[in-house]
Amino acid sequence: MKYRIIPVTPFQQNCTLLWCEQTMEAAVVDPGGDIERIKAAIEEEGVKLTQVLLTHGHLDHVGGTAPLAREAGVPIIGPHKEDAFWIDALDQQSAMFGFGKVEAFTPDRWLEQGDTVSVGQEQLEVLFCPGHTPGHVVFFHRASQLAQVGDVLFQGSIGRTDFPRGDHATLIKSIREGLFPLGDDVSFIPGHGPMSTFGEERRTNPFVADHRG
Ligand SMILES: [Zn+2]
Ligand SMILES: [Zn+2]
Repeated sequence: MKYRIIPVTPFQQNCTLLWCEQTMEAAVVDPGGDIERIKAAIEEEGVKLTQVLLTHGHLDHVGGTAPLAREAGVPIIGPHKEDAFWIDALDQQSAMFGFGKVEAFTPDRWLEQGDTVSVGQEQLEVLFCPGHTPGHVVFFHRASQLAQVGDVLFQGSIGRTDFPRGDHATLIKSIREGLFPLGDDVSFIPGHGPMSTFGEERRTNPFVADHRG
């Protein structure tokens, strides 16, 4: 599997283009906006978009979903249905985040813990990781030890939990019990900022580093 990170929106959200090198079928994870930039990347890589994947319902991750999926004629997959209230409130989110008008949508498939999503011949495992939002999911590609973690975990930080239905203790549990057991060598693409590994965060992240002594 190959990937390319495409920073989008004023929040520099990490939209990711993922594709299977055998079939050149691709998924876009979290098309927050700037869909012309995303479409240009698809064109440059010579891949065929077959689906849009969403980690959670926040506008900076989903704002470009409707036009991108409609133009490409592809399904919208994820997040977990507990984030439906965020997606149903795109207009209010737009006002809250200071975005322009965004097009509403309804995902074609909600995801749950243990689901898998196929991108060509590659398989992504779905991990349910609530806390930042109640319906946040993470996509894990076991073969390349790569996780798309959205706003669950960042290099040196974790997701905000001061939004409606956010919960700090739940987020910490999702990271420690849901993500870290996948292994220290797992690299992750966060929703914002640089990549890191679970091992590095277990050593140095002030919010979720392992307790010592
Ligand atoms: Zn978010
Ligand atoms: Zn975000």
